[in-house]
Amino acid sequence: MNEVILLRYGELFLKGKNRGQFEARVLENARRAIAGLPGAKVRRARLRALVEVAPGETDRALDRLARVFGLTSLSPARVVAPALAAIEDEAVRAAQAAIDRRGGRPSFKVSARRADKKFPLTSPELDHTVGARIVRELGLPVDVHKPDFTIGIEVHEERVLVFCDTRPGPGGLPVGCTGTVNLLLSGGIDSPVAGWLAMKRGCRVIATYFHSFPYTGDATREKVTDLARSLARWQGELTLFVVGFTDAQKALRAADKGPMAVVLYRRAMMRAAAAIARREHAQALVTGENLAQVASQTLENLAVIEEAATLPVLRPLLTYDKLETVALAQRIGTFELSIQPYEDCCSLFVPSNPTTRARLDQVVAAERALDVDKMAEELAAAADRVVLRSGG
Ligand code: ATP
Ligand code: MG
Repeated sequence: MNEVILLRYGELFLKGKNRGQFEARVLENARRAIAGLPGAKVRRARLRALVEVAPGETDRALDRLARVFGLTSLSPARVVAPALAAIEDEAVRAAQAAIDRRGGRPSFKVSARRADKKFPLTSPELDHTVGARIVRELGLPVDVHKPDFTIGIEVHEERVLVFCDTRPGPGGLPVGCTGTVNLLLSGGIDSPVAGWLAMKRGCRVIATYFHSFPYTGDATREKVTDLARSLARWQGELTLFVVGFTDAQKALRAADKGPMAVVLYRRAMMRAAAAIARREHAQALVTGENLAQVASQTLENLAVIEEAATLPVLRPLLTYDKLETVALAQRIGTFELSIQPYEDCCSLFVPSNPTTRARLDQVVAAERALDVDKMAEELAAAADRVVLRSGG
């Protein structure tokens, strides 16, 4: 082994028992992310983890590990023996590679961390000694405040890691450490981002899509499936429930021909999504709803919609500006999928003047003609279950 990937994860805010669980979970998730790559191995090393893969697989491993929540940063590193000469040689080589990449005479600093206190030099001594050798040999200027690149050195027992490329991890909490949630996933821009944010806070996400065939066609179902697969890359796999919603939507529309239709559809979605959540041991629902982004997302409507949900409804995007959501969608790779054309089932059978101030008494009166709880259980029981794996 002469190449590893060094993983760093959040530590400061974690105390006591939580920390052990967090560490075990983030390592487990890292292991799962690179499972299948030749030679993949993850080892714990004092608030760090070391990943080994077969030569030539480092880039693929880095790409996957960059989607493991809980990791704060990652560095591909070279491994050398715990001897000063070997460390210096490798540091000079890394600095030369940085010059080749950047051209000119970039400034640098050395930043050593001595996890093994038995190593004869302290961290500042290592910084100075190794830095002086680079200055002597390559003539680069030192800049400890704003260097163009940093040579990192970590002294572990039996081995020392030298690196100069540190990439940000996604941060957050490892998926699975805060529970399971059911994401109401549509083909739009918002709900995939909402699901990603829930994952970032440690939730394992399952998703439910309400499909009104043939009014929303196979292409739309494919689109939502693609979005779910894209989200699966951040947690390994994702189970998508596709609910056939056409008959329910027609029954709801028949029960009330007035301006409340969309609110009635949304309440039916909440009930069915909660029924699926309960079957799957999920503890909350997640939507892409946003305050006042569209005329129907008023506090009045959100309140009446939420009243039908028997689990907490999390709305990670509630306060986001559309531009912020779009920027995030681009960053996580769902935007290009979301802007493909699709049909929105809530724009089917809708009144020309949808309400912006739903009233609970009127909505409940309209629902009285139907057995809405039975409807929810039947929708949940008949849902198609599709397990999506992240693949390469
Ligand atoms: P999105 O971009 O996520 O579609 P939006 O801003 O278009 O959101 P709406 O269309 O009003 O807002 O939908 C609000 C939320 O309701 C969505 O974010 C999603 O969580 C849920 N939702 C809407 N339609 C569906 C559907 N067909 N299946 C599952 N969830 C849906
Ligand atoms: Mg939408």
